Amino acid sequence: MKKTLTCIECPVGCQVTVETEDGKILSVTGNACPRGKVYAENEVVCPRRIVTTTARAEDGKMIPVKTNRAVKKDEIFAVMERIKKLSIRLPVEVGDVVYKEIAEGCDLVATRAFDKEKR
Ligand code: SF4
Repeated sequence: MKKTLTCIECPVGCQVTVETEDGKILSVTGNACPRGKVYAENEVVCPRRIVTTTARAEDGKMIPVKTNRAVKKDEIFAVMERIKKLSIRLPVEVGDVVYKEIAEGCDLVATRAFDKEKR
């Protein structure tokens, strides 16, 4: 079976084709660099994404957040449900963990500093 993907690791957007048989990867072609091979293999075996969104702070402000590692695509809905219920204690600094282990092996971190007055 052949599957062609657009590599999203950089703006070039190579069309990478992965050939599989019985769930095993036989070949990866079309990638201009090794990152594309790794990306395509992961997409076929276990697709993952960094989750980037906003979460509510204790005073109602929306704080930009992201997972510090890529989350399995089939776990993203559950992660978003956990984020919706958050009430982040202020202040936060860039990189502060606002939810430890929001998914297996992944923490949710603030991507912008916020104090109680800043909007
Ligand atoms: S294969 Fe390499 S050059 Fe092509 S889009 Fe992916 S990261 Fe960029």
